[in-house]
Amino acid sequence: MDVNQPFDRRSLLLAGLGSAAALAAGCASSTRRTHTASLPGPVWPHERTPAPSSTPAPSSTTALQRVRVVPRANWTASQPKLWDTKPMGAIRRITVHHDGMAPVRLAGPGDVADRLELIRHVHVENNGWADIGYHFVVDPQGRVWAARPLDRQGAHVRDHNEHNMGILVLGNFEEQTPTPRALAALDALIVEAAAVNRVPLSEIRTHREWNPTACPGATLQQHMNSARSGRGRIAQHVA
Ligand SMILES: [Zn+2]
Repeated sequence: MDVNQPFDRRSLLLAGLGSAAALAAGCASSTRRTHTASLPGPVWPHERTPAPSSTPAPSSTTALQRVRVVPRANWTASQPKLWDTKPMGAIRRITVHHDGMAPVRLAGPGDVADRLELIRHVHVENNGWADIGYHFVVDPQGRVWAARPLDRQGAHVRDHNEHNMGILVLGNFEEQTPTPRALAALDALIVEAAAVNRVPLSEIRTHREWNPTACPGATLQQHMNSARSGRGRIAQHVA
C-alpha cells in the first residue's frame, strides 16, 4: 500500500463527534505548563549523522536502520498553533501511549487519517491545546505517522513534556492486543530515535510510568516491559 497516497476522507468524522467520544479521544493526560529551554534542537530520525567514534555503533539490523514516516499533510490540512507551544530542545526521553478509545479495526490509511483527525480535533477544540498531543503515531499496519512537529514540546505527559517525545500507538490495549506490525514499527521508531538523540534505555518509558493512568494499556505495557529487558528488541539496541 502506498502510504504517501493522498486521500480525503476526513470530512465525515467531525459530524459524528459526540461529547463522550470527544472526552475519551487520546489518553487524556497532559498539561500546557512547560518551561522554555534553549538547547540544541531535536534530531529527526531521517537526519541521522555519523556517531562520534567514542559512541559505540548500535548493532542494529537492516530493519532498524531507518523509519519511514507518513507526512502530516496526509492526514490533516491543519497547522499547529505554534505561538502556543514551547520549543522541544534536545530529546532526552521517549514516552509510549495508547489512544484508549473504543477498539476499532483500522483497515487502511483513510481510516487512520480519520482517527488522527478526530484525536487532533478533540485535543485542540475540547482540550484547548495547540495541536494533537503526540509527535508520532503508529497504526495497526505498522505505518508511522508524523503528528506534532518534533521541534515543539508535546502535550502527552502531565508536568513532564519537556524534552519528551510522545509516541501514540492506535488502539485500546486494555481491551485488545497490538498487532505484530505495530509493535515492530514502534520498536524500530524508538530504537532509531533513541540512537540519534542518545536517549538511554532508562528514559524510554510508558505513560503509566510517569503518572497514574492505565495508558498504554495492559498488553502494550507488557510488550514494553519485555522489549526493554534482557534480549528484548529495544534493549538489544539501546544502552
Ligand atoms: Zn498516555
